[in-house]
Amino acid sequence: MCGIVGYVGPVNGGRDAKTVIIDGLRRLEYRGYDSAGVAVVADGAIELRKKAGKVADLEAEIAARPLDPSNLGIGHTRWATHGGPTDANAHPHVVGKLAVVHNGIIENFAHLKAELAEKGYAFKSDTDTEVAGALLLDTYTSLEGTADSGDLTRAMQLTAQRLEGAFTLLAVHADHPDRIVAARWNSPLVIGTGEGENFLSSDVSGFIEFTRDAVELDNGQVVTVTADGYEVTTFDGEAAEGKPFRVEWDITAAEKGGFNSFMEKEIFDQPAAVRDTLYGRFDEHGALTLDELRIDASVLRSVNKIIIVACGTAAYAGQVARYAIEHWCRIPTEVELAHEFRYRDPIVTEQTLVVAVSQSGETMDTLMAVRHAREQGAKVIAICNTVGASIPREADAVLYTYAGPEIAVASTKAFISQIVAAYLLALYLAQVRGNKYADEIRAIIDELQEMPDKIQQLLDNAAQIQQLGRDLSGSKSVLFLGRHVGFPVALEGALKLKEVAYLHSEGFAAGELKHGPIALVEDGQPVFVIVPSKRSRHNLHAKVVSNIQEVRARGAVTVVIAEEGDHDVEAYANHIIRIPESAGLMQPLLSTVPLQLFACSVAEARGLNVDQPRNLAKSVTVE
Ligand code: GLU
Repeated sequence: MCGIVGYVGPVNGGRDAKTVIIDGLRRLEYRGYDSAGVAVVADGAIELRKKAGKVADLEAEIAARPLDPSNLGIGHTRWATHGGPTDANAHPHVVGKLAVVHNGIIENFAHLKAELAEKGYAFKSDTDTEVAGALLLDTYTSLEGTADSGDLTRAMQLTAQRLEGAFTLLAVHADHPDRIVAARWNSPLVIGTGEGENFLSSDVSGFIEFTRDAVELDNGQVVTVTADGYEVTTFDGEAAEGKPFRVEWDITAAEKGGFNSFMEKEIFDQPAAVRDTLYGRFDEHGALTLDELRIDASVLRSVNKIIIVACGTAAYAGQVARYAIEHWCRIPTEVELAHEFRYRDPIVTEQTLVVAVSQSGETMDTLMAVRHAREQGAKVIAICNTVGASIPREADAVLYTYAGPEIAVASTKAFISQIVAAYLLALYLAQVRGNKYADEIRAIIDELQEMPDKIQQLLDNAAQIQQLGRDLSGSKSVLFLGRHVGFPVALEGALKLKEVAYLHSEGFAAGELKHGPIALVEDGQPVFVIVPSKRSRHNLHAKVVSNIQEVRARGAVTVVIAEEGDHDVEAYANHIIRIPESAGLMQPLLSTVPLQLFACSVAEARGLNVDQPRNLAKSVTVE
């Protein structure tokens, strides 16, 4: 989620560790931009500068309080997960003579923090990262007097073995001014190799200005980088190897990881976004927890109505979530566009729970709805992708989506993560209210945990959908049909196409077709149909298959999104997009993905600016 840079090499005129790192951070800023920092080792000591805000704010800080020239350092641009975006929570974190930067989420940090606090460690920040740093220091210290005394690499291997979750962790030590030691687990890390200098970075854009020779590390590896080389091991200390490659991209493409647009990259980020949103959700007793909770459980038990307020794509995530909340918690749930909410004199009481969904956490319409709801005495829970933004600050409880920054205006990974977070909220309510036993909750979480791999399977087949996008890019209009949770997915598919491809598109509940919209269907009209699983309750499958027949009989070109092994749809489909089997409520996490890819490739084929569509802004901070 964040950007990391490490440098070890010569001090050469005006160029040294800090200048190389700042350059890298500027180019990595798209990965995170709520705070930034750099630590260098100079004259046997660690020097640290860090600041909430953009890399530019860090530069101003360094200009005001210059750092000594140095041949070794690490830097970070943050996208907070644990603790708000403050100076103290910014990375690097210095513990003893060590400095660390980290990308990811340490799932077992609370447990480790308690253990280290007992040993006398005092923490200066709210981050999980500082805990990892303290554990590294503790491990390093514990090696004193053994054969591994003073071995920073060994200390990192042992530390990595104890960390759970996702981490790229870089460390420098004042007594080892010649090396950076790093570990990688479920977060990215590449080495850049130069002449008498080497780099570490979250991706190649962190060093592409200086070298195009890179080495990719595998999950579960530790690397020790010096000016002259690097050495890779496993967490167990066995010798291992990275995969060298040459970067052929230019600087702009590098930021996008080689994808044509941020939107495409973010679609491909979705397995990681879902995985990260699921991390660290259980306390030591196995109970599901929220990120911030300022409401008493007794209040949640008394809730008799839920109103989800959101706008645009987030409102569709809310519509999906409604099915899960009502099914799992048996609480009547409405979804309301935030900008309509307070103008219709909504019935809101102290027993109403309002769930506000916003990627940025700054959407003005949603913020106003939150304020209105709280004035009426309702409690508000925020689902948001930006730690410390206005909506989570004003809410009574928060569940963050850990999707990382979303740069493209059209939301993709935030939408998928909002559904996951809303499902977690539904399960949390079911737990607090006793609607579900712990093992039932666990079983649903297990299903959610299978989704990243299933989304990946779909993405592995992206070429088919991208080709379809090119083939249908000349269409005048595209229709989307779905039922049950497939209905909001159809709405989202249509919205994506409007937003990025400027193509007229509509989403309908498939059952509504015969009540009007079928009149739109004429020869050659593309119609996407999202088909529920054959195993779905209420036998919706057969009804949707009939809907495909109906539009096909009137000349539609049907694009059918159906589970693997669903042969019933084959006779009526002009194109079939297969999705892995899943439980009914999980299907939106899969069926949305081809619609995102489709919109993205239609826009590209039409030569449009996919990431910055006309007339739209990423975060809508006006009413
Ligand atoms: N979990 C860490 C934090 O909140 C790292 C977040 C990141 O990847 O930027 O500081």
